Amino acid sequence: MVKRLILILGDQLSPDIAALKQADKSDTIVMAEVWDEASYVAHHPKKIAFLFAAMRKFAARLRDEGWQVAYSTLDDPDNTQSIPGELLRRAEQHGAQEVLATEPGEWRLIGALNDCPLKITQLQDDRFLASHSEFETWAEARKQLRMEYFYRDMRRKTGLLMEGDSPAGGQWNFDHDNRKPAPKDIAFSGPMQFTPDDVVQQVLRLVGDKFPDNFGDLEPFWFATDTTQARRALTHFITYALPRFGDFQDAMLRDNAFLYHAVISMYLNAGLLSWQEICDAAQQAWRDGHAPINAVEGFIRQIIGWREYMRGIYFLEGPDYTRRNVLNHTRDLPGLYWGAKTDMLCLSKSVEQTKTEAYAHHIQRLMVTGNFALLAGIDPYQVHEWYLAVYADAYEWVEAPNVIGMSQFADGGIVGSKPYVSSGNYIAKMSDYCKSCAYDVRKKTGQGACPFNLLYWDFLIRHRERFAKNPRMAQMYRTWDRMGEPRRKTVLTEAAAFLDRMDKGRPI
Ligand SMILES: Cc1cc2nc3c(=O)[nH]c(=O)nc-3n(C[C@H](O)[C@H](O)[C@H](O)COP(=O)(O)OP(=O)(O)OC[C@H]3O[C@@H](n4cnc5c(N)ncnc54)[C@H](O)[C@@H]3O)c2cc1C
Ligand code: SF4
Repeated sequence: MVKRLILILGDQLSPDIAALKQADKSDTIVMAEVWDEASYVAHHPKKIAFLFAAMRKFAARLRDEGWQVAYSTLDDPDNTQSIPGELLRRAEQHGAQEVLATEPGEWRLIGALNDCPLKITQLQDDRFLASHSEFETWAEARKQLRMEYFYRDMRRKTGLLMEGDSPAGGQWNFDHDNRKPAPKDIAFSGPMQFTPDDVVQQVLRLVGDKFPDNFGDLEPFWFATDTTQARRALTHFITYALPRFGDFQDAMLRDNAFLYHAVISMYLNAGLLSWQEICDAAQQAWRDGHAPINAVEGFIRQIIGWREYMRGIYFLEGPDYTRRNVLNHTRDLPGLYWGAKTDMLCLSKSVEQTKTEAYAHHIQRLMVTGNFALLAGIDPYQVHEWYLAVYADAYEWVEAPNVIGMSQFADGGIVGSKPYVSSGNYIAKMSDYCKSCAYDVRKKTGQGACPFNLLYWDFLIRHRERFAKNPRMAQMYRTWDRMGEPRRKTVLTEAAAFLDRMDKGRPI
């Protein structure tokens, strides 16, 4: 009989992962903590600890179920420290000729498996709602790949929030109800937190020892690290936060990292939860009258809409996607992204929270750190590497379309029909940052003027040729043209001076 290895990667921790579904108990499962994967970007220590702990627990669960698991810890002296290396080593050890794998979520690793001298079959990862071919067929028929239409198809396909052929509540999308500014009080104590058990503590020691210089606080560590815990965290969210998720989805507070967000993306992306169980639980909460339609629709849209759409774009666009840079932005990522001091409170708080929690919610990622990088003209590849490193939920298939596409417009408008840029007004409206910032959001120019106000116009003028004809942006150019010439000059001069200070590493 041909001896087989079954490869399970760190973000494939689902009992129904494709390779496992086709395996039998005479196969050897290979799982490996390897330096190559833990260091291709300087991942947040919490992210590494989460994955290693969840992998160790998943391996133990498989062993309990009677599987043979060859597990390599990072500090095993025989560890070759790469996935292909570990497959070759285990193949020799077990006399295996074939490997069954589930397609990785990153072109880099797909290529590495293709280049490995072993016979490796990469099965489609069917934990997603839309297969590659389904997304390609959907995309082929369209000039513009707008998420909203894809999402409607996914609603029809799953039957989620459907009443016959019609959307529940008479609308596909309740987003206009979901833009309330930051509330004064949050009636949610945040995501469920777990005390590190022995497995987690062992991993924390290893990660603390091996990755002492990575950006991010390893402890306190409170993530769920197995499916049972992740399901408790999901139930906690559905019970206490989902009803208000919609209303305050876009709001930001300086002293509250989580508001009414689910904080489950790291569990979902690693395989501890499935999209189906999350969406079923949310739909049930609506059916039971526990959560309103605007909250539940908004939440389900993120998962069967945005998440699936982003994955579709990543695989459709191919391996060069992360190198796209249609706006020719070349500035280096400033030190403030790694915690250097800045007086811009929205940025310093978003980065500080990222460092502590390996988490920021969508609007902080899009309208604070992303918005600033785009306005300042930072090289999108550097921006992409930053996001990939610092968030516990970051894997290239989901991070890259969000960063290169949605946030940095570096793909020229595949993901978004216009760039997500704003002046300080948006941040002032949706957060409480500006109230205690050294800059004044109401000031457009002069000493203490909010840098977003300057950079916003600077960006629009730099890219006037590209964006002036976009009907959704024409109004902004008309506003600029109505400004007096001296004012326009002041704005651009002050923006240039600000960027110059930043480039020279001076305080901003
Ligand atoms: C610049 C940028 C980078 C991002 N990088 C990542 C990333 O690396 N990994 C990641 O999972 N998400 C990423 N997102 C999407 C989103 O910010 C996170 O999914 C969300 O903040 C996770 O927190 P949560 O679980 O509390 O989400 P909630 O706000 O509670 O939303 C529920 C779920 O919806 C899904 N979701 C929501 N928005 C998106 C989206 N735009 N794309 C994909 N899934 C979505 C997530 O699975 C999330 O858990 C990024 C967004 C931006 C703007
Ligand atoms: S004033 Fe400007 S820099 Fe300060 S918090 Fe508000 S938007 Fe950010």
